[in-house]
Amino acid sequence: MNELAFATIDELKSKLASKEISREELLTFFINRFKKYDSQLGAALEIFDKDSILERSSQEGFLAGIPGILKDNIAQEGRTLTCASKILEGFVSPYDATVSKRLKKGGALLIGRANMDEFAMGASTEYSSYFKTHNPWNLDHVPGGSSGGSIAAVAAGLVPWALGSETGGSVRLPAAFCGIVGLKPTYGLNSRFGLVAYASSFDQIGIATRTVKDNAHVLSVIAGKDECDSTTVDIGKKDYTKNLDGVFPKGLTIGIIDNMLNAEGMMPEVRELVENAIKEFEKLGAVIKSVKIPVVDYSAAVYFILSRAEAASNLARFDGVRYGYRDKKVQTLDEMYRETRHDGFGAEVRLRILTGNYVLSAGHAADFYNNAKKVQQLMRAKLDETFKGVDLLLTPTQGAPAFKFGAYDADHLQLDLMDFFTCFANITGVPGLALPAGFSKNNLPIGFQLIGPHLSEELLYQVGYAYEQKTPWHKMQLPLFM
Ligand code: GLN
Repeated sequence: MNELAFATIDELKSKLASKEISREELLTFFINRFKKYDSQLGAALEIFDKDSILERSSQEGFLAGIPGILKDNIAQEGRTLTCASKILEGFVSPYDATVSKRLKKGGALLIGRANMDEFAMGASTEYSSYFKTHNPWNLDHVPGGSSGGSIAAVAAGLVPWALGSETGGSVRLPAAFCGIVGLKPTYGLNSRFGLVAYASSFDQIGIATRTVKDNAHVLSVIAGKDECDSTTVDIGKKDYTKNLDGVFPKGLTIGIIDNMLNAEGMMPEVRELVENAIKEFEKLGAVIKSVKIPVVDYSAAVYFILSRAEAASNLARFDGVRYGYRDKKVQTLDEMYRETRHDGFGAEVRLRILTGNYVLSAGHAADFYNNAKKVQQLMRAKLDETFKGVDLLLTPTQGAPAFKFGAYDADHLQLDLMDFFTCFANITGVPGLALPAGFSKNNLPIGFQLIGPHLSEELLYQVGYAYEQKTPWHKMQLPLFM
């Protein structure tokens, strides 16, 4: 049955269509994969009961009968929603996120809730309040974060697709650490209605799959205008798989951001694999150009300030009154707020709320928040200018392979720097597609990403697909999960 575990969505669809397997049998197969392997992996916070999954989804639609898992910050009606935080323990969502609704209408089977860093704050999934998720290539290593549960589940063949969320790289970084495909769409392409807010002006729901085409299938079901999210764009009905024929766009120019490829701390073996990927694109017919965008060197600092500022405001709603956990051993309302937030939030989340309030406070906002906003504008302008000379950009997704648990316990700043390669796409709102580039000497996956102008997802998929057809990485099956 293992060819089922690592099958593509098209392969599963044809098995369902020919009645080789039924919708229920396929679901049972994947639920059993979780039962067998997830005690080692820690990808899911909860796998729902089979009947309740089946009855909630349409039997028709493009993804009919195809199971997938959602990060636990995406609302599913009638299901617990915790963001892997104690403060939301026991909270049941009264409604569906728009993406959940569209997936169910499209026939997809929403199998459970994936583990994550608390409130999507982290880069390793070590900050979940429940348990850690492991890297399926080597269980002593982190899967990356914050969407580590979603990504590990897909990489280990426990589900063919998963949704994560991106604020600064939380789909692309773990996708790179686990050797799969991860999309961070253009800001406004996917509805954020029902996605618990971290930093609203950056947040986007992203997609994790093992192949580019699977990714395009899922995006085609969820993308587009939503009345409940005024920042969504109207793209009409789009089939993102349309151009996936392996034909490489003629004369396509790819810019390599020189100051990222040669960033400080970049491991030589990572650079070598990214350079091999660049050579593949050259062979496919791309014109490769080196570009310098010095302002992106400030992206981690800008992201640090703006994400904390927005998080401090967004997380003010968790006060013990409206949602989840409430500390009851208190006398006054003030004490109730304070104790609830102190006990309910983990240390990393509390630190971010404090930093966010600090950078917004009178006397400091001008130095921090306002300046970061100015650099953001500059970054957007420079990126627009760069895209006049190149069609796409290519950069590493990481400076090193996935690290061991606890490696940065004493130096949290290093974890924040994990976003260096990814967060400029969130700051500027452009889309990024993370793709596998091969394996390190220790047999851990290494990736790279393609970045395009706003709403260039079709082109990103087309180019990513052509690359995928020439490389073996998406066919690698994990020895531990056969
Ligand atoms: N590592 C980043 C952070 O902790 C990114 C998180 C994300 O994209 N959700 O903020």
